[in-house]
Amino acid sequence: MYIPYGRQSIDESDIQAVTDVLRSDFLTTGPKIEEFERTVADYVGAKYAVAVSNGTAALHAACYAAGIGPGDEVITTPLTFAASANCVLYCGGVPVFADVDEKTYNIDPEDIRRKITDRTKAVIAVHLAGQPCDMDEIHAIAKEFRLTVIEDAAHALGSVYKGKKIGSVSDLTTFSFHPVKPVTTGEGGMVVTDNEKFYQSLCLFRSHGITRNRDLMTGKEAPWVYCQLDLGYNYRITDIQCALGVSQMKKLDFFIRRRKELAERYDKAFFDCENIIVPYQMPETESGWHLYIIQVKNCGRKEVFEMLHAKGIGVNVHYIPVYFHPYYQEHGYKAVHCPKAEEIYSHIISLPLYPGLKDAEQDTVISAVKECVLFQERNR
Ligand SMILES: *Cc1c(COP(=O)(O)O)cnc(C)c1O
Repeated sequence: MYIPYGRQSIDESDIQAVTDVLRSDFLTTGPKIEEFERTVADYVGAKYAVAVSNGTAALHAACYAAGIGPGDEVITTPLTFAASANCVLYCGGVPVFADVDEKTYNIDPEDIRRKITDRTKAVIAVHLAGQPCDMDEIHAIAKEFRLTVIEDAAHALGSVYKGKKIGSVSDLTTFSFHPVKPVTTGEGGMVVTDNEKFYQSLCLFRSHGITRNRDLMTGKEAPWVYCQLDLGYNYRITDIQCALGVSQMKKLDFFIRRRKELAERYDKAFFDCENIIVPYQMPETESGWHLYIIQVKNCGRKEVFEMLHAKGIGVNVHYIPVYFHPYYQEHGYKAVHCPKAEEIYSHIISLPLYPGLKDAEQDTVISAVKECVLFQERNR
């Protein structure tokens, strides 16, 4: 038996949706793409959506639309997947790491303030585990210093901040549809925005910087002419993937309800364990529960991690602080130090959490975690 930390939930209707596209006229650049974009945009309450090949491409596109260029600084959290910072490097910008809040593990607005210089252009807020960041504070700072706010919502499709769905809160919000994320298209990503200019940029960037839109040309071109207006990429997604996405979106609320139920079962199970710290929930927010991250105290995290893997429980660590990675260490980040993020990193373990996880499987995980923590605590 092996229980992973996360996995997709695919049913017959998903399979049917994909096979239907395979029998249709368009495998890519067809109607399913717009349908998926409309579905997600309507769900989150955004005006525009641009689907791309993965969540990393979505972040790259968002940085492009925000005008990030050589020398521009972008502030983000170290407790994230490397892509949240790599997207800044792709544009020639400089990721700057602000420390996190010790309760939510999300970027600390006060430290954003401390890290601002006259080259700061944007903030990338990451809703770790689906728990929304303190967006009001981040927007207040952004307004004061004229920064663009990008939300990396790879974990947070369906999360709610003060009554608003994530995706309707900031200038640009990105999602990922990797199999472990809230809904999947295999690989896939999306950027949502209310800003028409950003929307136009995102569309160009997704497809080589090329447009066929006559309004963007001089109007004197021959009918076969298309124009490359800037240097873009091929970041397109396929209709096959988007059909899966549309089908998955019908189940998102159900997926989140089940994740929440499982999270509450974990909370209850660990309630009386003094060496297990369960995730904190910020008032006025609803997490989509992408991850269930605990901190283990007074026992070796590495040993607990190894013991759980030996028992077939695929726990994980989200995340290694980005600047710890050799690439960052070798590119000027040796002196960077975010003490709270590093302290949290040394204790965290992500437990299995996905809609298809059975109560009985979760009970196995719970007993194993308690047993391992207790064992390591006694053997210190
Ligand atoms: C998954 C993830 C990404 C990247 O998404 P991909 O679709 O895998 O490229 C970016 N940021 C965070 C926080 C993620 O979890």
